[in-house]
Amino acid sequence: MNPPRTATAAASPPGASATTLAPGRTFWDEGVETRPRPELEALQVSLLRDHLDHAYRGSPWYRRALDAAGVSPRDIRSIADVAHLPFVDKKLLRDRQLAAPLLGDLAAVDEREVVYVSASSGSTGVPTLSPFTAEDFDEFQDVQARLFWAAGLRPDDRYCHALNFSLFVGGPDVIGAQRVGALCIWAGTVPADRLIFLFQQFQPTVTWTTPSYAWYLGETARAQGIDPARDLALSRIIVAGEPGGSIGATRRAIEELWGADLFDFYGISDIFGASAGMCAEKDGLHLAEDHHLLEVLDPATGQAVPDGQQGEMVLTTLRKRARPMIRFRTGDVVTRDRSPCPCGRTHARIRIHGRTDDMFIVNGVNVFPSDVEVVVRSLEELSGEYRITLHRENHLTRFDLEVEVRSGASPRTATLPDAVRSAFRNRLGLSPRGVLVHPDGTLPRSVHKAKRVVDRREG
Ligand SMILES: [Zn+2]
Repeated sequence: MNPPRTATAAASPPGASATTLAPGRTFWDEGVETRPRPELEALQVSLLRDHLDHAYRGSPWYRRALDAAGVSPRDIRSIADVAHLPFVDKKLLRDRQLAAPLLGDLAAVDEREVVYVSASSGSTGVPTLSPFTAEDFDEFQDVQARLFWAAGLRPDDRYCHALNFSLFVGGPDVIGAQRVGALCIWAGTVPADRLIFLFQQFQPTVTWTTPSYAWYLGETARAQGIDPARDLALSRIIVAGEPGGSIGATRRAIEELWGADLFDFYGISDIFGASAGMCAEKDGLHLAEDHHLLEVLDPATGQAVPDGQQGEMVLTTLRKRARPMIRFRTGDVVTRDRSPCPCGRTHARIRIHGRTDDMFIVNGVNVFPSDVEVVVRSLEELSGEYRITLHRENHLTRFDLEVEVRSGASPRTATLPDAVRSAFRNRLGLSPRGVLVHPDGTLPRSVHKAKRVVDRREG
């Protein structure tokens, strides 16, 4: 049973390879990426029906869950019908994996068909596995190549892959860059000094890291007397793992530091390492909608929210055979934009605001670390680093903010806390309880994902 692939193949022959792609070509897979939305949505419905059928036949858990919900794959007639299906979340994945080792009973193929597993640890410490068949893995890298191409990676680039290779789903993404035809340097996560040395030796033109590490690396290079913009060849930096790449002020600060264009990217271990990425417009991330069905839901009620309004991103795989993910609650808060993008791609764009578990509520306002970052970055006397400490006060959440004066800025130390509070009130309608201003370089720099929220609330 494989109608999904036939449908795609008929519309757009895959097999886009470096030998057939001229660097000047705009799209990796034009037929898929620019398909008119009504056709794209019709394809999604047909893929979803077949995918559910595969899940029902192959996975004991999905069979039970769909039977219990009284839904048959044949009942799927429109995208809206996805709302009748039960949710899956991280806890369920973990529980089912423990109940039916190794892969859990959401897996829909025999383990003999699985050629790769990634693992994500999450906060509870039990790694959850994400299995791929050979076909899944190939499609994963094809989407990865598509997203690299959209971000401007070309066969004549040198690409330095600075993501973790140990179990992390971002590790194999380097294969997508090879598929594009770039010269690939498998650096992995190495100490900053070593990576800067590799940048000097190999002079890569493109790299991939987290936003906070991109910033840290640039600062470290400068401290060594290397001007990243002048002395290194990087013209594009791809970032993922934190919202920074989608925060205009953060993006521009990193771009200026490196003299390079920054492209945000989104992948999720439980599905693919490759889900969404920025095009040259840098205005939201195009989601590969031929592989993912996107819902944006109110996290409390589970009801859909209108485009442009924040909600939890819930993703359903449309092709991944090893383990279908039906209505997976990602915990990421996004807005969706289905309006036409000037680049010509028709796939919806997402803007990522943060994680539901990082969000805190002050005076009834939902606040994400990314909101705080926008304000901190708007004040030019500040370095951009910050730390939030949450407290409980009379059953309400309050937060203290620590910031740093940028080196070289003339600090109005006495008035700076007031300036920070006022910027918060203007942007968010609320302000920190306490503002502590440190000299530049005081707050800890993170080597991977920044930990910027300290929660001192009890219970
Ligand atoms: Zn676009």
